[in-house]
Amino acid sequence: MLNHTTPEQQRRLVTEMPGSRSAELDRRRLEAVAHAVTPTLPVFIESGGQGILVDVDGNHLIDFGSGIAVTNVGNAAPAVVRRVQEQAAKLTHTCFLLAPYESYVAVCEELNQATPGDFVKRTALFNSGAEAVENAVKFARSFTGRNAVVAFEHAFHGRTNLTMALTAKYDPYKSGFGPFAPEVYRAPLSYPYRDGQTDGVAAAERTIAYLDKQIGGPNVAALVIEPIQGEGGFIVPAEGFLPRLQQWCNEHGVVFVVDEIQAGFARTGKMFASEHFGIEPDLVVTAKGLAGGLPLSAVTGRAEIMDAPQKGGIGGTYAGNPLACEAALGVFETIRSEGLLDRAAWIGSVIRPQLEHLQETLGIVGDVRGIGAMQAIEFVDPVTQVPAPEHAAAVAQACHSAGVVVLVAGTYGNVIRLLPPLVIPEDLLREGLEVFTRAITERDALVGLTG
Ligand SMILES: *Cc1c(COP(=O)(O)O)cnc(C)c1O
Repeated sequence: MLNHTTPEQQRRLVTEMPGSRSAELDRRRLEAVAHAVTPTLPVFIESGGQGILVDVDGNHLIDFGSGIAVTNVGNAAPAVVRRVQEQAAKLTHTCFLLAPYESYVAVCEELNQATPGDFVKRTALFNSGAEAVENAVKFARSFTGRNAVVAFEHAFHGRTNLTMALTAKYDPYKSGFGPFAPEVYRAPLSYPYRDGQTDGVAAAERTIAYLDKQIGGPNVAALVIEPIQGEGGFIVPAEGFLPRLQQWCNEHGVVFVVDEIQAGFARTGKMFASEHFGIEPDLVVTAKGLAGGLPLSAVTGRAEIMDAPQKGGIGGTYAGNPLACEAALGVFETIRSEGLLDRAAWIGSVIRPQLEHLQETLGIVGDVRGIGAMQAIEFVDPVTQVPAPEHAAAVAQACHSAGVVVLVAGTYGNVIRLLPPLVIPEDLLREGLEVFTRAITERDALVGLTG
């Protein structure tokens, strides 16, 4: 029988943050858990649902993080819980490479249908985002017979060896962990707020000049790019940038790989962020929002590319585990039944004007950007526009103390990104936004240089 409980949808702080139980668990953490695995929040979470996370001391926090864009359909979403419970009672594992099962195929069918592009597609499933990105490169190298891979400034693609090489930011992701995979090249991005180039085609020409001169199209297997960068700080490329890059890929037989791990799955008001930019990737990489919190990732794309590797060359022991596949089917079901594409766009329409008002009135807010329920603020020095990570840290800290979970991002650590679950109740969304706005306004007043 369904054993599903949703916590009361209300922000409520009943102890200091952290409370005594969280503090005790944190002492155990420091004894038992490797210290490099460093949580942001000082509290331990016990349950969650829609827009609330409940900690072990009974504090109810508004969730503006969705576990980093994972629980887009809400935490412990009913359709996900029901399917996982039923599946767990029946069959937990066979390894799809050994003995297949229907749900794996059903998830691949859903992804082939949902991803942009009206061509014949195939999908392969994996466990983590990084694993899927690595496999996208394997498909591309196998198909093209080439080695070089192009990634971008401010990119984040994961923490395995190849994806560390693709990731831009050194600290904390790469320091001390080299040597990194060879044949990875980093190209200039379109970052309108910082590079001043609002013409995306012109920005792409600058990137292409670099690619042509310093790597050479015929050497490139894959160009890997996030349509809107996640960890990099929700950088939205100028209009025309992505289509021009896709065109360059087509001209040179380069596989155009779009990493939709953070921006995908209804987050931006479309199923995939690529749809906002008019691009049809050769391969789409998904993870995070795909399975509502169970570990599942995928590469989806052109059949001729996906069918290139030798038989048995792709897979994994747990890849496409039956529980995770059922969870993903529950996610697709929920996105449809709850109308979450429209809901994400609506969330954006609530958040965006408030943030833009702050940008107009406060000196520390340099830029506001994002699409749909994926919005961010970049904090700067009011006079020099130099990145100001201390403002982002202070605002995030103030939100956490007030019971609102927000995430810091950006190469310079000066961005706060908002990723509420798409099912968050309206009053929680507005209340969380109010807490966030107040924290920023107070910080700005403290800096004292506004106007
Ligand atoms: C999180 C993320 C990854 C890595 O996913 P993991 O599941 O943590 O390995 C890759 N790309 C993007 C854009 C991400 O946001």
